[in-house]
Amino acid sequence: LEAEIITIGDEILIGQTIDTNSAWLAKKFNAIGIALSQIRSVKDEEEAIKSALESVDRRNIPITILTGGLGPTKDDITKKVLCQYFDTDLVMNQEVLARIEILFKAKGREMLDSNRNQALLPASCEVLHNELGTASGMLFQNEKRMIVSLPGVPYEMKNLFVNKLLPIVKNAFQLPVIYHKTIMTEGIGESFLVEKIKVWEDSLDRENIKIAYLPSPGIVRVRLSAFGSDFDTIKFIVDKKATELCEMVPSYVFGEDDISIEESIAQLLIKKNFTISTAESCTGGYLAHLLTSVAGSSAYFEGSIISYSNALKVNQLGVDATKINQFGAVSEAVVLQMAGGIRKKFHTDYALATSGVAGPDGGSEDKPVGTVWIALAGPNGVYARKYLFEKSRERNIRRSALAALSLLRRSIRGQLDHV
Ligand code: ATP
Ligand code: MG
Repeated sequence: LEAEIITIGDEILIGQTIDTNSAWLAKKFNAIGIALSQIRSVKDEEEAIKSALESVDRRNIPITILTGGLGPTKDDITKKVLCQYFDTDLVMNQEVLARIEILFKAKGREMLDSNRNQALLPASCEVLHNELGTASGMLFQNEKRMIVSLPGVPYEMKNLFVNKLLPIVKNAFQLPVIYHKTIMTEGIGESFLVEKIKVWEDSLDRENIKIAYLPSPGIVRVRLSAFGSDFDTIKFIVDKKATELCEMVPSYVFGEDDISIEESIAQLLIKKNFTISTAESCTGGYLAHLLTSVAGSSAYFEGSIISYSNALKVNQLGVDATKINQFGAVSEAVVLQMAGGIRKKFHTDYALATSGVAGPDGGSEDKPVGTVWIALAGPNGVYARKYLFEKSRERNIRRSALAALSLLRRSIRGQLDHV
């Protein structure tokens, strides 16, 4: 079963809006065993929208989702084009009109004709009522295919898709049984990981199980998917293989099914009743942000000092000024003292410290851009490690924070000696 996405809006084609709708929809479709044949972005232009519609009709695509171009302004013409294409007229939908009126009253705002016109909808479509906004979803359906127009605003689109459209799709099509499991790894590059688990990968029944490696900075996701007719059977097979994988490289696996490192760390800290603090130079608080982005973080996160300047490193964390002079701020000696200093000051079980050259400037021959020292102080001592990341500031900050969390995870799990 195939589906296609057409996103509408000039703003996407000039790079002002990133098309997150398609990625989200693609995931949702994949999860129910519907493959996307194409994602296409077109301008707010009659010809462009029409030719996209003709294309899906010509190729008999069973499900097509359009998003965007349903606003009250002149440049949003999707509704008009749909009427022409399906040879129907706009009629006032009283239910939608009443809801828009209530929406405006509640906000105490005056209603314009253009707002009222949002309730004008093609006579031949099934209206998908949008409780979160003024643009309705429109479903055009015959025996062969569905063409659905949804608003562009992501949270309105998602709500309509999950609550209104999905039940209709599940009812109309015989969907295959599908099961995915994703194993999350960190601290090892894709090619090294592939090498390490080669024997396991070779043992997979490739007819029935598909494997995908999805790398991102610091993290590689290994996704197993199986299709079949019986859910319990394929789930059993995939789970068994996933367990084998985890047992093969236990130190790199931090969880499954798209859990983030910070979430997995939060679970570990809470389980062991440990607290953590951070002293951050090159990560500028990003590490603290990751740790506090998990709900319930007050149970383990004590606080942070963003000791960007040398003066703060000395005055707030007790770093030896002579060490800074001798070795520089980006050095093992300094980062060890930062971690030890914040741990003592904030009375936490663990403490992480970062100091590095994030770039793009400030590199030198012996400390090029991307050089980062990270230290972890724990109940049994302190440990520091040097990393050489990349040239991009953004990626260096992200990778530094992930590497720091990685050290912490290993230490709590007893995989790092002396901390
Ligand atoms: P509205 O009634 O709010 O105008 P609409 O259906 O007309 O909704 P658009 O005007 O096309 O939608 O887009 C509204 C906003 O939704 C855009 O400014 C943009 O921020 C967001 N948006 C549109 N299309 C996408 C997309 N494909 N991915 C992510 N965001 C999008
Ligand atoms: Mg628009």
